[in-house]
Amino acid sequence: MAEQIELRGVTKRFGDTLAVDSVSLTVEAGETVGLVGPSGCGKTTTLRTVAGFETPTEGSVAFGEETVTDVPPERRDVGLVFQSYALFDNMSVAENVAFGLRMRGVPAAQRAERVDDLLELLGIGELSDRDPTTLSGGQQQRVGLARALAIEPRVLLLDEPMTGLDAKLKRRLEEEIGSLLSEIDVTALYVTHDQAEAMVMCDRIAVMNEGRIEQVGPPAEVYERPATPFVAEFVGSSNRLAATLSDGQLDLGHATVPAPFTTDGTTSRRDENGSTAGGSATDVTDGEVTVVARPEAFTVGDGPIRATVEERFYLGDHVRASARLPDGEDLTLRFDPAADPDSDEVSLTVDPDRLHLLDR
Ligand code: ATP
Repeated sequence: MAEQIELRGVTKRFGDTLAVDSVSLTVEAGETVGLVGPSGCGKTTTLRTVAGFETPTEGSVAFGEETVTDVPPERRDVGLVFQSYALFDNMSVAENVAFGLRMRGVPAAQRAERVDDLLELLGIGELSDRDPTTLSGGQQQRVGLARALAIEPRVLLLDEPMTGLDAKLKRRLEEEIGSLLSEIDVTALYVTHDQAEAMVMCDRIAVMNEGRIEQVGPPAEVYERPATPFVAEFVGSSNRLAATLSDGQLDLGHATVPAPFTTDGTTSRRDENGSTAGGSATDVTDGEVTVVARPEAFTVGDGPIRATVEERFYLGDHVRASARLPDGEDLTLRFDPAADPDSDEVSLTVDPDRLHLLDR
């Protein structure tokens, strides 16, 4: 049965390296949380602490009611899926999936039924007798997932499982495995450096930077209302503009645009130390702010912001452009190819509802 995972103030030091710094995170029973962040930010170490391969220097890990900090990995009942599929190549696909059940003494008939069910669920029923070394990367990854799920783990831990797959297969597996994880009763922690992958697959994402979690929230919230400049930068592309807020208007120096408003009519901004990590949305007092604006917040037309398009990249369904503002700041824009302006000198409108303000 799926159980909640709770990390309470987990810190992990390797000598002088602070790999994980006071991480507290709850993954609700049945939920999938993605742990994202750049290389070296502490994702794998956090996951290994949950698996039991690392003992925290400080803090604790609990599954449901049970504190498991000192429980060895083999007694934690976790399912693991890693980047290297680590399938046993002297066993068939079915034997690989049945392995954990055999170790637990589950009778053969029951094992066979569970293995068949899982292979069907993952769409690889016909591969059951194959030698894993003859499978494609995507097929091996599905076998790895079936093997991890076979034991009905209390928690499922996945570390960069899509790395090494070609882009098209990766997109397909993200969607398939993402919906599978939300359908079955499993609590999953999913480590990836690819924020787009986490956004497709996970109920919530936790963004890590230098050992700390800077924000936890549903993908749309993290994207639309990043709690810190780091999150704004890491999750999708974003523009950050310095502005002065006064009477519901944002003065960018070269143009004035309306400020965003919350539903209660007050302008809201978040503390740069992070909303979910302690701060909260507060009413804005007029003053210096940083405006976070996604490329899609701007529309080319008759607007107050003048910019010069310097480069365009045609990406099929959209055009990404880099433009320069009158004050010399760079701006990333996104156009519909049909709306790509003829001239490089453009006037932009900005949707105030797509702007997010941070303290400066
Ligand atoms: P990546 O995306 O590159 O896998 P990550 O976010 O998973 O990175 P970790 O592997 O958790 O990062 O590493 C966090 C920090 O801890 C890094 O500075 C790393 O060098 C260090 N580290 C990890 N394991 C050890 C170890 N066994 N001994 C010493 N330092 C370690």
